[in-house]
Amino acid sequence: MSKVAKFGGSSLANSIQFRKVKSIVDADPARRYVVVSACGKESPEDHKVTDLLYLCEAHIRYGVPYDDIFTLIESKYLQIRDDLGLSLDLEPEFDGIREAMDRGADTDYVVSRGEYLAAKLMAEYLGAAFLDAKDVIFFNYDGSFDLEKTGAALRAGTGHGAGAGNKAPADTWTGAGADRFVIPGFYGSMPDGTIRVMPRGGSDITGALVANGTDAEVYENWTDVSGFLVADPRIVKDPISIPRINYSELRLMSYMGADVLHDDAIFPVKEKNIPINIKNTNDPDAPGTLILDDCSEQDRDDPPHLVTGISGRRHFTAFTLTKSHSSAEVGFLRRLLAVFEDYRVSVEGVSVTVDTFTVIVRSDAVANCQYEIMGRFSEEFRPEELKVEDHLSLIAVVGRGMKAVPGSSGQFLSEFGRNHINIRVISQCADELSVVVGVDDRDFERAINCIYGKFI
Ligand code: ASP
Repeated sequence: MSKVAKFGGSSLANSIQFRKVKSIVDADPARRYVVVSACGKESPEDHKVTDLLYLCEAHIRYGVPYDDIFTLIESKYLQIRDDLGLSLDLEPEFDGIREAMDRGADTDYVVSRGEYLAAKLMAEYLGAAFLDAKDVIFFNYDGSFDLEKTGAALRAGTGHGAGAGNKAPADTWTGAGADRFVIPGFYGSMPDGTIRVMPRGGSDITGALVANGTDAEVYENWTDVSGFLVADPRIVKDPISIPRINYSELRLMSYMGADVLHDDAIFPVKEKNIPINIKNTNDPDAPGTLILDDCSEQDRDDPPHLVTGISGRRHFTAFTLTKSHSSAEVGFLRRLLAVFEDYRVSVEGVSVTVDTFTVIVRSDAVANCQYEIMGRFSEEFRPEELKVEDHLSLIAVVGRGMKAVPGSSGQFLSEFGRNHINIRVISQCADELSVVVGVDDRDFERAINCIYGKFI
């Protein structure tokens, strides 16, 4: 069985980081598939290569010279190559990219070059075969991934699996018989062969696609923190990391604002039940965070905490409508929600008591239609009361450990009470995986800190 190891931009920021990557990869022969981002920031003042490439593009669009920016990129890669004593002929590569840009090359091609060149350097440094993502990662025309074609190409390109027809695309195969492959993240090919990039942070998705296509035993995602943190470090000082989390908890945490893996990186591994291990390149012995579809087996020997994580988002707006006897009216809630659908506003939460309905949406989503929606409500429902409140923050306390534990949500709520934090809305679904509370934007940080302080 093999492992996929994806390294983010901070793990490729300079030659020191390249060295760390090499010692991690060399430490385990099962790490056969290495996926890399473009070089990231070396210091807070530095720039990510992908940002610089997008900046070059913007300069070209406005007819402004981009040379100085391009030189920054070029010198970063050349410096890494020279520090590591590699012989990769980078100069013609950069000349080729420059020429393509001057000829008006497609943006996706240009911005994908950060990953392409980082992978070429890494392949030489690791003594591994370079496998271009354009030959092994495939999109459908609608932008979704063609998992079947991707899997087949990966298996063919890496000689993985003994099946018939495992023949590599002729111009891809740079590593016949190789034990290890380096694949650039972030891009792939459209059915017509043109290069297409993924959303920002998309190398996480490439790693997941490679794990899916090669039936990896684990997808290791190497970054610069020792796993997912229980809470946002900008809000809570030095939060601890989460040892184990399931996909549903992860989805809740990321939807509610936690900076975790790219959402699209989940489905390819979830489909094959491949665990994800978030690890720290700068502290490889730290266990990091293990993400599993189902943690119950591990939880039996090592029960989880009540709270897995706390995340939250600011700037929501609540529409509250009261109309007597509406609770008994079939279809009332559906008609209410249909108004938001008409304005293409996604509903983030609904609370219902007798004859009163609160619908929560993102404030920016109704910035241009709030009064129209209120007008529709007045006209169509003739409510006794209609109220709109903004400056609402939603906080999700997430934890599979809460399930069937009587009093767990009560404990959170009394903690808010003790800290004089007024709760404006509350919701918990029957899966008991999270409790979501709405508080005033002003209480957002205090609310997260008080739950962290008490329960972690
Ligand atoms: N380099 C790309 C970005 O900065 C993709 C990645 O790093 O995952 O978004």
